[in-house]
Amino acid sequence: MGLEDALARELRAWGASIVGFADLPSGARLGGFDKAISIAVRLSDWIIDSIAKGPTPLYYAHYNAVNTLLDQLALRATGILQAEGYGALPIPASMREDELGLRGAYSHKMAATLAGLGWIGKSALLVTYEFGPRVRLATVLTDAPLKGGRPVEESECGDCESCVKACPANAIRGALWRAGKPREELLDAHKCEAWIRANSPFGRLCGICISVCPVGRGVRRGPNGATRAPGPGEA
Ligand code: SF4
Ligand code: SF4
Repeated sequence: MGLEDALARELRAWGASIVGFADLPSGARLGGFDKAISIAVRLSDWIIDSIAKGPTPLYYAHYNAVNTLLDQLALRATGILQAEGYGALPIPASMREDELGLRGAYSHKMAATLAGLGWIGKSALLVTYEFGPRVRLATVLTDAPLKGGRPVEESECGDCESCVKACPANAIRGALWRAGKPREELLDAHKCEAWIRANSPFGRLCGICISVCPVGRGVRRGPNGATRAPGPGEA
């Protein structure tokens, strides 16, 4: 069994919903690491369905619990990689890129698209093929010689505008993502942040654009019908 399969099997056994591997281009590297493991944990459909009009205390608790699990999964992957003699850098699930001082140099969503887990939606969320945006992410950077998946480089949102219409802040511009497109062209983050500050008593959370996305509501493929070949460890 290859290292990819061993990692994917172990992480899935401990609660990961999707595990993928990415070859990092030079602009996405950090600490000299040129590979990444992208780990997604699926959110509760019931809780996400319940926030179609705004955040709830249950969503806040769930969000924190899933982040804790993701951090544990990243630590387990780090332990496996280091036991094999490789370097590993677990990136916490719970912190934002700017809080880590990594903005522009690294993001969980970028690693996930490079690993082939999904595309960036009009909402600027990662939209996975399997669970839409109803996931949270962690990443482990490493120098282990992992075989990367096939990167996703184009949006599969098509004509869908569910998140654009549902956003109470009018923050989602409606543009289609392609690899390298700045987040600002998709989302007015200041409008989003301002709405959340004014309207959410539950941390820095909203979740409406997660809840309304049709890809997370039983549609297992993009609105354009795109499919992909399974990556390493996903068969
Ligand atoms: S989190 Fe809420 S306010 Fe921000 S873009 Fe999504 S729906 Fe709009
Ligand atoms: S709601 Fe529609 S437009 Fe928005 S991210 Fe999901 S598929 Fe894309």
